Amino acid sequence: MKRRGLLSQKAPLFIRHLMNKGQVYGPVKNKTQMPEFAQVDEPSRVVLDYTTTVLPPKRLFQPPEETIYHFSRKDFTVEPAKVSGDGLKILVGLHNYDAEGIACLDYQMARGPADEGWAARRRNWVFVGVSYEPDQHHFSPSVGIGPDHRNGLDLFMDKADGGYNVELLTERGASLLDGFGGWSAPLPETPAPKFHNRLLPMPSDLPHILARSYEHPIWQQEAKRCFSCGSCTMVCPTCYCFDVFDELQLDMESGEKKRHWDSCQVAPFTEVAGGEIFRKETSSRVRHRIYRKFKYITDHYGRPFCIGCGRCIRACPAKISISEVMNNLARKAAG
Ligand code: SF4
Ligand code: SF4
Repeated sequence: MKRRGLLSQKAPLFIRHLMNKGQVYGPVKNKTQMPEFAQVDEPSRVVLDYTTTVLPPKRLFQPPEETIYHFSRKDFTVEPAKVSGDGLKILVGLHNYDAEGIACLDYQMARGPADEGWAARRRNWVFVGVSYEPDQHHFSPSVGIGPDHRNGLDLFMDKADGGYNVELLTERGASLLDGFGGWSAPLPETPAPKFHNRLLPMPSDLPHILARSYEHPIWQQEAKRCFSCGSCTMVCPTCYCFDVFDELQLDMESGEKKRHWDSCQVAPFTEVAGGEIFRKETSSRVRHRIYRKFKYITDHYGRPFCIGCGRCIRACPAKISISEVMNNLARKAAG
């Protein structure tokens, strides 16, 4: 693998260079000084050294709210909303687990009738990864995403002494480097990051543990703490559920069909006409989320549908931890 050194003070120049190649997105400081994925207007606003973001990058490909189509009762027309995927877009400063989260959704959005909005927004992206220091919640290596994992990335900025070693991973990534003259020799490597959280079972054992745990009392115990607020699913990089609704204009003749993010953790999510709610009990919803991550989709995807980012643990007001739940189930299964 080819590597080039990039001193920290040259990183903004590199981002400026990328901005001349296409539209650049990355973790930029918002009003509260927290990094969030957004379009970059000024290289100095990009935060390359960050633990994680509250919301994952999926919002770039599946916005929290979007119009699906426009309709008119007057002339009986239905026009699909246009989604532009034109022009090169570069996502810089992506952690390797978030690249894997995008890969999870690429898989799921293409199953059955493909999600056209997702497919259109996913065209023409190049991903530039960066290494990170895990906090107490990350457990990515437990789901096969260790510090050396590079799947889905085109370039990787590996933090080194005094800057980064930039790894060329694909031809698409290499083409971004043309014309940039700010390189130095590869820099001295820094120690591999230490992870403080982990899953006890091997990834391949997770579905088997859940297959034996459907009636386990742990779901009732966790449900006693859960507020059904939905925060864990809103911040999850691999959750994609949505609801649709009509928004009528004041003339009552035309309007838009819209969709917005929804959560399987709130009771109305499974409410159908007639008022029946299929997962009425909080315990059934708590269980459902964890089965979606480590069993239901895993059974056909072939690997966990959780990337170990820890966002759901950080966001939970009740301190419910998906890693702790799985570890408790594993201990009980072993005992
Ligand atoms: S379930 Fe939690 S740890 Fe797993 S990908 Fe979703 S937010 Fe991250
Ligand atoms: S964030 Fe926590 S309290 Fe809220 S729905 Fe998820 S598990 Fe329950």
